[in-house]
Amino acid sequence: MSHVGSVQKRQQVVQEEEVQHLYANRVRVYPKTVKGPVRRFKWAVLIFCLTLYYALPWLRWTRSPAQPSQAVLLDLWHERFYFFNLEFWPQDIYYLTGLLIMGAVSLFLVTSLVGRVWCGYTCPQTVWTDLFMWIEAKIEGDRNERMKRDAAPMSFDKVWRKVAKHAAWVFIAFWTGGAWIMYYVDAPTVTVEFWTGTASSQVYFFTGLFTATTYLLAGWAREQVCTYMCPWPRFQAAMLDEQSLTVTYQAWRGEPRTRGKRVDGAGGDCVDCNACVTACPTGIDIRDGIQLECINCGLCIDACNHVMERTGRPKWLITWDTYADQAAKAAGQHAAFRFFRPRTIIYLSALVIAAGAMVVALMLRPGIGLSVQHDRAALFVRLASGDLRNGYTIKVVNKAQSPAIFEISTLGLPNAVLTESVENLGPASQLGLPVKADSVGTFHVFVSGQPAMLKDGSSAIDFALRDTLTGELTTYHSVFMGPNTETRP
Ligand code: SF4
Ligand code: SF4
Repeated sequence: MSHVGSVQKRQQVVQEEEVQHLYANRVRVYPKTVKGPVRRFKWAVLIFCLTLYYALPWLRWTRSPAQPSQAVLLDLWHERFYFFNLEFWPQDIYYLTGLLIMGAVSLFLVTSLVGRVWCGYTCPQTVWTDLFMWIEAKIEGDRNERMKRDAAPMSFDKVWRKVAKHAAWVFIAFWTGGAWIMYYVDAPTVTVEFWTGTASSQVYFFTGLFTATTYLLAGWAREQVCTYMCPWPRFQAAMLDEQSLTVTYQAWRGEPRTRGKRVDGAGGDCVDCNACVTACPTGIDIRDGIQLECINCGLCIDACNHVMERTGRPKWLITWDTYADQAAKAAGQHAAFRFFRPRTIIYLSALVIAAGAMVVALMLRPGIGLSVQHDRAALFVRLASGDLRNGYTIKVVNKAQSPAIFEISTLGLPNAVLTESVENLGPASQLGLPVKADSVGTFHVFVSGQPAMLKDGSSAIDFALRDTLTGELTTYHSVFMGPNTETRP
């Protein structure tokens, strides 16, 4: 072998070694089923979340005959979001911004108080993974049985159980994907259309897409989503402090670990049985302290409590507690949980302000909307009379469920005359613009004014819009343009 060849081969070996060091193979997690108060609470949350998710699209809500009767519907085709008796238009996008801010701040607050409970109990990834694991345990048995069967050669028993498990997973994933579609189109209608083959291609495509993602993420990826795909574990540490409640192994009580029977008075309460590790859905050891992989589900608490009961030791060796209390307990003292701390006060204040602003904004939400866009092609036209004329595209939003006439006029340009070219209205100092129910009317309005009213070639102008039925008024600021003073003849 030449010198160059041997160098290349050596480089290849070095690269392969580096790759092995960089990427560890996935160690498959076989969580053991546990029973106890935490598990029961987790089931209750899971049932609540799934019931809410699957049932909500079927909840009906009384609206006008022209509107959908689904309580919660994101109608992308008609650009509306219905949420019970609220109806949001694309113009209301800032409410969504407000909701997102409130959601983020709530998550910060909850995390700073009780750690990653969102991850452990209500995150969709956790809920569906939990459901899929339950199915797996029902069909393939508990941890030891599954591990033994996976290690065994292929057999009829192994094949039928695997096929049944994946079929059940796909079935649930399909209903999950289907339910997601029902948040975008009327649930009863799309269900009939789906099964009669008359639904749109988008409905079939997105049902397939969400079926596939649910199956892959909850069935195959599982804890890998939390550990590698989700950004939240990376910065949740910034929300925690020594007063945050987290799932904690009480090392001061458990160490040094004692295997088997303890000689009275010697050693800690941990019998090093690994029950907490085998129960963990992310496969970690809580005794190693707070870890990025820990979703704070608390299943290790139930697992350890059983061991403590069996061995006649006090329960709650693993418990929910704060770092401050654990440090105090290690010194024979106790540190009470503090709800109000600088960070929780900041989060709480931000949440109250955001919620208050949202409520006020919703209460003061206008039923009409106006937008005005000045023509760009010709900024102004000089008429035979010597007056100047500007063109504007005017959009009038009528959120009411009945047609309405909107009176439009201008302020700031004395003796202005308006004409409208689509409906052929005017000339007059104010026009009546007809707009259909629950829709946006588009008009092209010309405003004529005298050049003497302009200062330095332009004048500020306000369009005033009034609902003739309700008297509701709104204005839009714009500009009336003419030739610049220096160039004016
Ligand atoms: S260590 Fe305990 S709380 Fe954390 S993920 Fe595992 S079982 Fe859940
Ligand atoms: S389950 Fe409890 S006793 Fe067993 S290893 Fe974990 S902490 Fe120790």
